[in-house]
Amino acid sequence: MSDFSDLGLPEDLLRAVRERGYTTPTPVQAKAIPIILDTRDIIAGAQTGTGKTAAFVLPLLARLGTQFSGPARRPPRALVLTPTRELAAQVEESVQIYGKYCRLRSLVMFGGVGINPQIDGLRRGVDILVATPGRLLDHLGQRTVDLSAVEILVLDEADRMLDMGFIKDIRRIISVLPKVRQNLLFSATFPPEIRELAGSLMRDPAQVEIAPQGTTAERIQQHVIVCDRSRKKDLLVELFQSRQWQQALIFTRTKHLANRLAEQLDAQGITAMAIHGNKSQTARTKALFEFKNGRLQALVATDIAARGIDISELPTVVNYELPMVAEDYVHRIGRTARAGASGAAYSLVCVDEYRLLESIERLTRQRFTRERVEGFEPDPNAKPQPIETGRGQRGPRAPGHHGGGDAVRRHDAPRRPEPGNEAPRRSGPAPDGQRRSSQPVDGNRRPAPGGDAQRRAPVDGNRRPAGGNNGNANGNYQQRQRGR
Ligand code: AMP
Repeated sequence: MSDFSDLGLPEDLLRAVRERGYTTPTPVQAKAIPIILDTRDIIAGAQTGTGKTAAFVLPLLARLGTQFSGPARRPPRALVLTPTRELAAQVEESVQIYGKYCRLRSLVMFGGVGINPQIDGLRRGVDILVATPGRLLDHLGQRTVDLSAVEILVLDEADRMLDMGFIKDIRRIISVLPKVRQNLLFSATFPPEIRELAGSLMRDPAQVEIAPQGTTAERIQQHVIVCDRSRKKDLLVELFQSRQWQQALIFTRTKHLANRLAEQLDAQGITAMAIHGNKSQTARTKALFEFKNGRLQALVATDIAARGIDISELPTVVNYELPMVAEDYVHRIGRTARAGASGAAYSLVCVDEYRLLESIERLTRQRFTRERVEGFEPDPNAKPQPIETGRGQRGPRAPGHHGGGDAVRRHDAPRRPEPGNEAPRRSGPAPDGQRRSSQPVDGNRRPAPGGDAQRRAPVDGNRRPAGGNNGNANGNYQQRQRGR
């Protein structure tokens, strides 16, 4: 498919797409849009940054009738569920962007902010409701939302919702929706629970597969620099200067290190802020805003805080520490080189992390050249030390040392959800207030990476990167009205 106008979208949407500067639909858009317009259910898997948001938002707006004029106080006809606040905000932002010339109304709702403005928004009438499951259940409990008119249900990043323990919440929400509706499920991976959910939810769904599992974005130049454990911060500063980085998104495993590193970079003249789940929604939004506007050179993030962040033209991602879960590497580097752009990912790897690096190589089926930077070379006599994961727990002990009781304890240890995200609230496979655990990268149980939620490996042991998101993270609920 070479042109958006071939997809069957109305002119109101094509105009917004043109203004956005898109000329060609991405593969997931080319495949999914006609199917959704055809009112079929769909299960779609797409590599990160593939344009999946527009792949469901555009046909959803078309299906609702871009110039719809119902009664002012109307209940939502489309419901989009997302795992995190950031993603909810970004999806709704996309609804705004692509729906610029539509008369449809949208509302985003998530926890951590006041419920009353959301209630007011619902009362005023909404066509498209974008929500995280927890807050939506609060509204259902208080009978402040009416889902009886929902014609289209979208589950975005379904595997993440599953990993965050939302499966029961999702089922409860689905149980109050009209039985006849169109279902759209987007997921990066397809573990059995997702297939089961899709099976119970859908009528003869079309299946859209975009990227083969386990591949990383091809346009990302991936560098691995092996270095001394104690010199990482200086190496990072050196790289900023010598490679003339304009901006970099930097990942750490722990919130504590994210804070410290942001302070240290700032002290060295590199403007930086940290973003993680212990920060208030306002602080997270502010940091993102400053970064997107170019006022910050470095944004230091933990995995979950960075999920769903879409910063257009972000050229550089740095793994200051490798993630405990190889799959997160793919998600992290997917923050750059989005939708056709190119980008670079730098991983600073010390002796403690060699085993993690090997896991990433197995997952992504590539072997990295171990680069060295003069003055920062690793000490050849250094012995690996246990990795601090931010929970007082220890990571892998040495290359080739494959887990043990320690890892099992980590897996079973209670996990508290990050305040920045909706907590799983009902019992079931994930106990109250705990996140679901996932399959490990290498057959061992997988430790909790720095207090962040974890994702589930796909059934066949291969993994596909998760889709990213669109637009700005936007720290509060919003209601938009156009044309009326
Ligand atoms: P998503 O996978 O939905 O998070 O989208 C990733 C990025 O691709 C976002 O910055 C979108 O604005 C952008 N994008 C989506 N569709 C297109 C397209 N057809 N052409 C160029 N960029 C796009």
